[in-house]
Amino acid sequence: SSRCTRCYSTRQALIEQNAKINAFVHISPESTASTSKTGALQGLKVAVKDNIATKDSPTTCSSAILKDFVSPFDATVVKQLRRDGADIVGKTNCDEFGMGSLNVYSVHGPTLNPFPFTSGANNSTAEVEERSAGGSSGGSAAAVAMGLCDAALGTDTGGSIRLPASYCGVVGFKPSYGLVSRWGVVSYADSLDCVGVLGADVPIVSRVFDRISAFDTKDPTSAEPELREAASTHARRRLESLTLDSGRGKLDGLRIGIPQEFFPSELSPAVLDIFRGVLQSLQARGATLVPVSLPSSSYALSAYYVLASAEASSNMARYDGIQYGKRIPTNSLADLRNVASVYAQGRSAGFGPEVQRRILLGTYALTSDAFDNYFLQAQRVRQLVKDDFDAVFSIPNVRNAVEESEEGLEEPASKVDVLLHPSAIGSAPPLSLDSSKSPLDSYVQDLLTVPASLAGVPALSVPCPTMSTLLQREAEQGHDGWPVGVSVIGQWGSDELVLAVGQAVA
Ligand code: GLN
Repeated sequence: SSRCTRCYSTRQALIEQNAKINAFVHISPESTASTSKTGALQGLKVAVKDNIATKDSPTTCSSAILKDFVSPFDATVVKQLRRDGADIVGKTNCDEFGMGSLNVYSVHGPTLNPFPFTSGANNSTAEVEERSAGGSSGGSAAAVAMGLCDAALGTDTGGSIRLPASYCGVVGFKPSYGLVSRWGVVSYADSLDCVGVLGADVPIVSRVFDRISAFDTKDPTSAEPELREAASTHARRRLESLTLDSGRGKLDGLRIGIPQEFFPSELSPAVLDIFRGVLQSLQARGATLVPVSLPSSSYALSAYYVLASAEASSNMARYDGIQYGKRIPTNSLADLRNVASVYAQGRSAGFGPEVQRRILLGTYALTSDAFDNYFLQAQRVRQLVKDDFDAVFSIPNVRNAVEESEEGLEEPASKVDVLLHPSAIGSAPPLSLDSSKSPLDSYVQDLLTVPASLAGVPALSVPCPTMSTLLQREAEQGHDGWPVGVSVIGQWGSDELVLAVGQAVA
C-alpha cells in the first residue's frame, strides 16, 4: 500500500533525478530479475547506505581510502533484503565512515536536501535553496524524500538515521541495539552502531524492519532469540491493552513522557512551537502527557563524542594501506623501508578532515594520561544515561537480569510507555555550515539523538504531523516551512510499540 508512486522505472530517469541532489553514489544496473522475485519485500526498491557491504557494487563509506573497494560478500542485511525479493537500487551518500551530521564530509560531495523539489516551492527556474540533507545517512533520507526508492537502509551511531529523516521530512527508525545484524556493516563505533530503515511512512519502515530484525550468529552483539522474545512479549502485552488508532483516533491510556532535558537553549523557538502543537493534539486524543526527567542526558553529547571517537580511532586502524586502504606509490627506498611513513602517507591522503579529527580525539582519550578523565568518565555517564531511561519506562529492561522481577513495587503512575521529543534543534541547516565553522556547530545537531544511542533503545523520527497547517502560518510563526521531526523513544526491545505510537502520532 505504501509503495512509492514516484519511483523511477528506468535507470536513466533515476540518474537524472539523482543528479539534482547527489543522494546515490552508485546506481545498480537495471534489474532484470525483479519480476520473477518473490517474497515479503517483492519488487520493493531499497537503497543501501554506502557503509554496508554489497558484493555487486563498490562500498566506499564516502572515503577516498576505500574509493575502489568492492566487498567480496553481501552484509547480512543485504542478503535478507535480496532473499525477500527486494531490489537493491543503489548505494547512498553519507558522511565518511558515518562521521558527521550534515553529509558534507563525503568524497562524493554533499547531498542536497530535496525539500525544494518536492514541496512545490520550486516549480520555476528560481535558484534552489541549498540546505543539508542531514547526516550521516543523508543520501538514504534524501533518496526516500525525493521518491527515488521505496525505503532505504541507514546506520545510526548517534543519530545518523533520525537527524536526516527529520531534515528531509521522512520517517527514520533506529532499532534497539543488537536487533539488526551488523555483519558486513563497516564499523564506526561498534557499541553504538545500529542498522535501521528510512521510508516515506511508518508502515513501510515496519515492513522492512520486520524482515531484517533477526538473530545472526555472525554478529557477536546480536541479541539472542530469548531476549527478543521476552522484550517483545512485554511490548505486545502493553500494545494489546491500548487501542492505538492511527486515523486521528483515540489514544486513551497511552502515557507519553516529555523529558525536560530535551528542551535545551539551542532548540529553535519555531521547533518548540511546532512540538507544542503536537502535544496539544495528542492530549486532545486522550494521551496522558507526563513530565519526566532524565538528568544525565545533559551530559550525553560530551560522553558520546569521547566514546564514539575512541572506538572510531581503533576501528580506523585497519586502513593502513597494506591490509585495507590506499597506498601512495613511492619511489624513494627510504620511504618504503619506513613502514610508519607508508601508513602516514596513505592515511593522510585517504582520510578526510573529520575522520582525522576523530582519530586524534579518540587516540587522545585512550592515552594513559587522559583515560581516567575522559574515557572512563564517559563510560560512567553512559551507564547513568541508561539508568535514567530504565527509571522512566513502565516496561522493564529485559537486559538487566534480576532486578525487574518485582514490577509491582514501583509506583506505576510515574512511569511512561514512550518518550517524545523534537528530533533536532532546528530544521535543516544551510549547506554552508561545514568545516569552515567549528566542528562543535556540527556536533550540537546531535544533542537530542545521542541519549537513545548511548542507552541502545529504539528511537523513531516521524515528520511533524502539523507541518501542513503550520506551512500556511509560517510567516507569523517565524518558521521557515522546512521539515521538522518528532521522535518516539521506547524501552529496549519494545520496537513494535515505538512504531505503533509513531504511526499514531504521524
Ligand atoms: N553525527 C554523529 C557523529 O558524527 C552521529 C553519526 C552517526 O550516527 N553515524 O558521530
